[in-house]
Amino acid sequence: MIKVNEIFRSLQGESSYMGLPCTFVRLSGCNLRCSWCDTAYAYYEGEDHSAEELLKIIEKFNTNLIEFTGGEPLLQKDELIPLIEQLIAREYKILLETNGSISLKNIPDEVVKIVDIKLHSSGESDSFLTENFKILTKKDEIKFVLSDFFDYNEMKDIIKKNNLETDRSILVSRVFNSNISDEEFAEKILSDELNVRYQIQLHKLIWGDKKAK
Ligand code: SF4
Repeated sequence: MIKVNEIFRSLQGESSYMGLPCTFVRLSGCNLRCSWCDTAYAYYEGEDHSAEELLKIIEKFNTNLIEFTGGEPLLQKDELIPLIEQLIAREYKILLETNGSISLKNIPDEVVKIVDIKLHSSGESDSFLTENFKILTKKDEIKFVLSDFFDYNEMKDIIKKNNLETDRSILVSRVFNSNISDEEFAEKILSDELNVRYQIQLHKLIWGDKKAK
């Protein structure tokens, strides 16, 4: 069984898939407690479903793109992987959003992994499992969420130290209520000539806090 907090269809609000209709499957439970978490409601609440039940529910939402998110979906990795394999066999495109603290080993190659690296202001900056760098491929995406310039500088160091810019998409966004504006972060990225994709969460622009967190 897989414990699921919610399933809904919305527009993908982040990543290089932004703007596409997507079915979001939010799994319950998280091993981290980021200070600015906007999905704390998924820490405990949810209902158990079999893979067969989830396949039927997902099919009804009628999107080709499926994102597994949380919470932290890889806490239920053993149950999730067989479901993902069945979805891939049915030609769905799968995105997996994960907080980076759990091994990405054995995730099917077809899955696009969107992996957070938590920074200082989250309170979880030591959580990233560095061996995950070796598993990521060019189609995967690394995500940083910034609250302040301390976070920004930490991100810059991580990108440089691990030579991340050259091989894959790096997504950068701002904590919704940060004191630093999008414009200030954007100017900094441009003046530092960072090769990253700055994004403003589309779903929040459209719906505020109501949908697709
Ligand atoms: S990893 Fe995600 S769900 Fe977990 S506490 Fe951090 S922001 Fe919230």
